[in-house]
Order: sequence, then C-alpha cells, then structure tokens
Amino acid sequence: MVDQLPYDAIMMPTELERNISEVDRRIRAAERVAGRSAGSVSLLAVSKTKPSEVIRQAHRLGLAAFGENYAQEMAEKAAALADLPLCWHFIGPIQSNKTALIAEVSDWVHSLDRLKVARRLSEQRPTEKGPLNVLIQVKTSDEDSKSGVLPEAVPELVAAITELPGLALRGLMTIPAPATHPAQQRGPFRQLRELMDQLSVALPQLDTLSMGMSADLEAAVAEGAHIVRVGTDIFGARYNQVRS
Ligand SMILES: *Cc1c(COP(=O)(O)O)cnc(C)c1O
Repeated sequence: MVDQLPYDAIMMPTELERNISEVDRRIRAAERVAGRSAGSVSLLAVSKTKPSEVIRQAHRLGLAAFGENYAQEMAEKAAALADLPLCWHFIGPIQSNKTALIAEVSDWVHSLDRLKVARRLSEQRPTEKGPLNVLIQVKTSDEDSKSGVLPEAVPELVAAITELPGLALRGLMTIPAPATHPAQQRGPFRQLRELMDQLSVALPQLDTLSMGMSADLEAAVAEGAHIVRVGTDIFGARYNQVRS
C-alpha cells in the first residue's frame, strides 16, 4: 500500500540530497550557536507516508534512523527494507491493539503516554531484541492535544515505567503547539528540558530529549534537544496520509 503513491511523491535523489544537506547544515549551525559540540544532536528522518524506495535513497545518502506514525506502515517498510541496517522510531499515537507490532519492529518509541500501553509493550517486546528504548510524550504548550501526559503526571509514570523489564526509559518527547517566533518556540522546549533535569537527579540514565521539527529545530537545539524529528524539510510535503 505504501509503495503505490503517485510518482510525484518520489523525489529525485538530487533534491533529496540537497534537502538532507540543508537540514544537516541547520542542525550543525544551531549546535554552534548554542555552544554545543558538533554531532551532539541527531537527525531522525520522519518518513511517514513516504514509500520505501525513498527511504532506501535516504539511506544511500547517509541517513539511518527513520520515524513512522502508523504501526502497520512501519512494519511494511521495515520488512521491505530488511536488507538495510536501519533504526525504526515509532513517533505516532499508540493504539493498544498495535502494541505487539510496535514492540517487535521498533528500536525506539517516542510517544509513550499511558501505563497500560507501557505494560503491553514491555510484555510483548521479544527478549532477544533487548529492552525497547522509550520516551514519555509530554504535553507542554498544547494542552488540548490528545496525546501526551501533563508535566505534573510525569514523575508517577516514570516511576512505574522504570519497573518494566522490557523497556529502557531514555527520556522525554514533546510536540508543542505551532509558534512562529523563536522566543515563543523555546518556551515549551525549555520546560521539557527542565523536567528532564529534575528527573535525571534520581535517574542518570535519562539522556534523550526528542524535540524540534522542520519549523522549530533551531529553537529545540538551543534548549538541549538530542534528537530532532524532521519530515517536511527532508522529504517534502506529505500528499496523502496513509493510515494503518
Ligand atoms: C510528522 C511528525 C514530525 C515531522 O514534522 P515536520 O513538520 O514534517 O518536520 C515530527 N514529529 C512527529 C511526532 C510527527 O508526527
């Protein structure tokens, strides 16, 4: 299904190459401005709705980590690209009936926001793959969003998740409400970093803040992002949303 997009959704490699180097340049520039070391921020290429062939091209151009929002779509692409050493990050809302697929295919989950789902992912994680890396999705500015937990509920969820043997809690993720001014963009990212700083006192293994997308990656890097999730500025606009 995901490989049958109209041909114009498949980009010319040269355009993809230009996009990747421009995003890379922006990340490196933002690291410098923030006084952070080169390479301290990694790029997660958000490939949702894009065909496997485009991901293959992106891998040839040096990318290895891909973000997907729909479990079925991720599983199909992972199967089609099983010959490549790719790292799959699940970043979309998690339906309870998709946890087995997510636990089997993903290397990382960024969108954990319920204990029930955490328990299922832990139980369903194949032992030979080792614990699944997870981030808790936090509601920062966008309190109307359906996904994510409120900051005040995070410590309790953290305490419960660290007990689960199939999961390795690595940090926090957020998707703020869109804002155009850098100063406004930074507020929610700062809030996420401060929350992580508080949690890290007891849990030094927390090392990953997933924040920043095409429109606000500079603000996120300035506030300490370790992973930025970029779709549009790498692969172009998403024409049709493929749902699982
Ligand atoms: C789609 C998506 C992105 C990428 O957004 P762009 O604005 O296209 O860069 C990042 N994170 C999540 C959770 C997404 O769903």
